[in-house]
Amino acid sequence: MKKIQMVDLQSQYSKIKNQIDSKILEVLESAAYINGPEVHSFQKELEEYLNVKHVIPCANGTDALQISMMGLGLKPGDEVITADFTFAATVEVIALLHLTPVLVDVEKDTFNINIEALKKAITPKTKAIVPVHLFGQCANMEAVLEIAKEHNLYVIEDTAQAIGANYTFSDGTVKKAGTIGNVGTTSFFPSKNLGCYGDGGAIFTNDDDLAHIIRGMVNHGMYKRYYHDVVGVNSRLDSIQATILRIKLPHLNEYCDARRKAAEYYTKAFANHKNIVTPITSSFSDHVFHQYTLQIIDADRNALHQHLLDSGIPNAIYYPVPLHSQKAYADSRYNEADFKVTNELIDTVISLPMHTELDNEQLAFITKTILTFLNK
Ligand SMILES: *Cc1c(COP(=O)(O)O)cnc(C)c1O
Repeated sequence: MKKIQMVDLQSQYSKIKNQIDSKILEVLESAAYINGPEVHSFQKELEEYLNVKHVIPCANGTDALQISMMGLGLKPGDEVITADFTFAATVEVIALLHLTPVLVDVEKDTFNINIEALKKAITPKTKAIVPVHLFGQCANMEAVLEIAKEHNLYVIEDTAQAIGANYTFSDGTVKKAGTIGNVGTTSFFPSKNLGCYGDGGAIFTNDDDLAHIIRGMVNHGMYKRYYHDVVGVNSRLDSIQATILRIKLPHLNEYCDARRKAAEYYTKAFANHKNIVTPITSSFSDHVFHQYTLQIIDADRNALHQHLLDSGIPNAIYYPVPLHSQKAYADSRYNEADFKVTNELIDTVISLPMHTELDNEQLAFITKTILTFLNK
């Protein structure tokens, strides 16, 4: 059996190696390393894939979030609501810009922002909501948009884990994750669903004015060379990463399918087990399974985690500490009773190997090892 990895980037690379290697050499020969034609072409191709007017590439997914908030003109003291159960990058940039992060609980079955908790957290200072499409599935965007409209709030979608996911509105309209709110952000970190071979990120919007502001902001606030109209940052996607992403983008749907196929195998194997809750796919969003995350009930999750590691099966606890309990983001205004779900999830979740290259032999071994351990 091929060695099981949490994410198998080597096997995926080996299938496109010839194309990748020769295109990288072309970029090296071209010497257009930053903002070259490869970056421009990737931007156009991603706009087409997402059916969005503007894609602005940048250096990573964290910058994408930060620059979106800068572009929207959020000011120190403005409150920004996001989910308590996410990677720290989401809340980090809010704090970094001296905005006030307001963390709220999530839904137990989808791990995404809880709509009632979101409503409860709104104050006159609230300016924006950052729904995170966690583990590859969209938050309830129709409800988020409704609340945003009622309270005149911006919506910034953190799509780092869900690029390619489709969201279906109740009227049947389908939109790609990240193109629903005022602005969407993503990451091309190697292990993400559309990963490059270094750091990379992008911002999506249908708003022409916002796109213009952000395009300058990613490049030192320059709209004309050496004229700095706003305070910007240096956050650019380089041409080598862009050429890699151009090769991988046409495979994204097939990559999502491969992840879904592995997820189906897992879910079928664990169906109706008394100790296992398998991830659900909600009615409004398909799932691109950035992570395949189980909840282990009435059994020793930590012992299972260790047993799998000892059996050569990598696995991870995403996330072991809710953001509201992190030293950097603790806030005396938080009340533990408001984080019932995240406080529970940190003790029950376990993410299994999930990538495009899992084969049935590996999946059979992983599921058998888990079931044998729990049925002991
Ligand atoms: C990975 C990730 C980010 C940050 O992306 P980087 O490219 O690593 O900066 C932001 N939000 C979420 C939810 C992520 O998973």
